[in-house]
Amino acid sequence: MPEDARPYPSASPLNGKDLSQLLTTAHQLCESRGTRLTPIRRKVLEILLREQRSLKAYELLDLIRAIQPGAAPPTVYRALDFLVEQHLVHRLDAINAWAACMDAAGNHHDILVVCTRCGAVAELSDPALSRQLAERVAQSGFRLVSSETELRAECSTCGKTQDVCSNSSAVL
Ligand SMILES: [Zn+2]
Ligand SMILES: [Zn+2]
Repeated sequence: MPEDARPYPSASPLNGKDLSQLLTTAHQLCESRGTRLTPIRRKVLEILLREQRSLKAYELLDLIRAIQPGAAPPTVYRALDFLVEQHLVHRLDAINAWAACMDAAGNHHDILVVCTRCGAVAELSDPALSRQLAERVAQSGFRLVSSETELRAECSTCGKTQDVCSNSSAVL
């Protein structure tokens, strides 16, 4: 497994996990599925893992171009599509952004809680709740087409800053 050409100097702890360990896990998952974590796919994943927050397409492009000048948007989008298909990255429709899955090798999580202010993400797993939701949706004549439910929320950090703001500004 190529551990050379790493754009960042050293791995820092990511929620107790090591960056290189997370990348190795991603490599292994791809191999076991007969797919390949090509250099550009790996770079995109590495940036998302390192940032530990969701990134908009333009932010991701800027970061990619800092280490690989001339990277074209379609290349980055194709890499993102692949990573989403492989469940290594979550596509967040609520905020039009992407975030690395912090537990790709673990249990499938079916609920993503997304802070619409800062883009922080919490990955939850509640199969019973998801089943219930799917049943209710089916009762209304629809069928869920995604195995992930996204919830728009506000994280505790943003909640605190908003409290301060709302005291000093009138809401119309
Ligand atoms: Zn995840
Ligand atoms: Zn937040």
